[in-house]
Amino acid sequence: MASERVTCSGCSLLCDDIIIKSDGLYIDEVIGACLKGKERFDQITAKNRIYNPLIRKYGVLEKATLDESIDNVINIINKSSKPLLYGFSTVSCEAQLAGIKLAKHINGFIDSNSTICQGKVLNISKETGITLTTISEIINKADLLISWGANPAESIPRLLNKALFSRGKFRMTGREIKTLIVIDPVKTASFGVMGVRDVALQIECGKDLDLIRVLKEECCTTDSIPTNGVAGIDKDDLKRLLLHLTGAENGIIFIGQGILGSHNGSTVIKELLELVQLINAKQQKGRISIIMLGGHYNMLGFDHVALSVCGKNHGLQFENNQLIESKDNIISKIENEDFDCSLIVGTDPISHLPWQLSKKLMAKPLILIDNKQSATSNAADIIIPSAITGIECEGLAYRLDHIPIDLKKIVNPPNNILSDKEILDKIMEGFKED
Ligand code: SF4
Repeated sequence: MASERVTCSGCSLLCDDIIIKSDGLYIDEVIGACLKGKERFDQITAKNRIYNPLIRKYGVLEKATLDESIDNVINIINKSSKPLLYGFSTVSCEAQLAGIKLAKHINGFIDSNSTICQGKVLNISKETGITLTTISEIINKADLLISWGANPAESIPRLLNKALFSRGKFRMTGREIKTLIVIDPVKTASFGVMGVRDVALQIECGKDLDLIRVLKEECCTTDSIPTNGVAGIDKDDLKRLLLHLTGAENGIIFIGQGILGSHNGSTVIKELLELVQLINAKQQKGRISIIMLGGHYNMLGFDHVALSVCGKNHGLQFENNQLIESKDNIISKIENEDFDCSLIVGTDPISHLPWQLSKKLMAKPLILIDNKQSATSNAADIIIPSAITGIECEGLAYRLDHIPIDLKKIVNPPNNILSDKEILDKIMEGFKED
């Protein structure tokens, strides 16, 4: 039984220090992964794995051949004038590129989960600028970690292990000089890892903007901290937060769903990025950087691929096989029913989206490419199973710090299941043969 070092694609941290024991057919042991990562490797034989293409006939999903299902996909898209392609955050960059090419060929609209998550930060950063960093720099140099609207202890389970408890290459000290500040309205599991010198800030729900505005004000005019504090945070804690932000040598703000998904998210993100730029402009000895905590392992990949081929990171609308100007995203497209069929790749919008939107999505022909059953697979008209990237097929993915990482194939997929890229290429070939 051979041991091999591989990368886990269980979340966007893409830990590259996982040891697996495999005979090339099965994975017998996974060493070093968290529970979420272990679950990812167990997906190969999970109960909810999809092994065969399925086509809905008279309301019931029935087994089909791959060729039959591809023909049916092509039939649906041929009848469509407004195809919608969505997902692509749990597939390789190669599959994302194949999806964009397909969208262009069929004059569709393509968007990824990033559009309602970290893609917002990248969009806003075009106006404000953004200071980014890498996991290696965090491990080696960070002295301040701020988790804002995030729960990394559960969403990216090994992030705090690596960032907070590591010593780094360049100093003799580790956890003892690192301060963790958690800002969240909910007392999540991430509050549980706090030590005596850390700062727990249970902010009032929806008041992030008030806090950011006070911090921005304080960075310009010191000594006027509101006596009653702000957003449920008292004066002393506010002062501690400000001192840490302006005094850190290498501080990181991890932005999570609490901020990315909030109702006034765009304003909050814009002002938070402005605050960071303001602090960095004034800081003589250090800086604050941003890391976005998108959960899906290659959500960032879509932003990078779309930017590099289209100059726009999401919400790509094609007409006459050209990218055209569009302010739409997946939400507005579904809300306005501006689509007549959908091709969903590697995600579960029927669970993730509000019911009113899911209902509209289900009302039109729905094609799903995925490796596991979900609420979306229950509603789909055609399901094509895909191999698990990073286990059953290779591909490129972007880690949460924008570093491209190669994912390897470890074992063969069951039933000769194709990768997402191969399936999308096959659909594309079908159109060329028309
Ligand atoms: S933290 Fe993420 S990438 Fe690392 S082992 Fe856990 S699931 Fe896998």
